[in-house]
Amino acid sequence: MKPYKNKINKIRSFALSLIFIGFIIMYGAIFFREHQWLVIIFMTLGILCILGSTFVYGWIGFLSTRAVLVECPGCHKHTKVLGRVDMCMYCNEPLTLDPSLEGQEFDQSLNNRTKRND
Ligand SMILES: [Zn+2]
Repeated sequence: MKPYKNKINKIRSFALSLIFIGFIIMYGAIFFREHQWLVIIFMTLGILCILGSTFVYGWIGFLSTRAVLVECPGCHKHTKVLGRVDMCMYCNEPLTLDPSLEGQEFDQSLNNRTKRND
């Protein structure tokens, strides 16, 4: 079984890595300083990564407002659940908002499955 992570945490680490990638790309421009057009391309790519990261951070803010705050039964901390199934931010306990899924083996695909009783 793959280690699942809380979705908001996952997106947040993605945004953070985008910032690092952006800086690494811009740093890479130093090695091509003889070719001005390469420097411009690298700088643009780096800036795009950082702008993308800012966008993702804004998106997290938007998602957080839609996430449901629940008390985790495992560690009794308040964690945010996004979608029908998500993991606790602190102990990775699988959590669900749908009682019909309770006790089932955690599966990321449960998020995409349509409700059976509809
Ligand atoms: Zn927990």
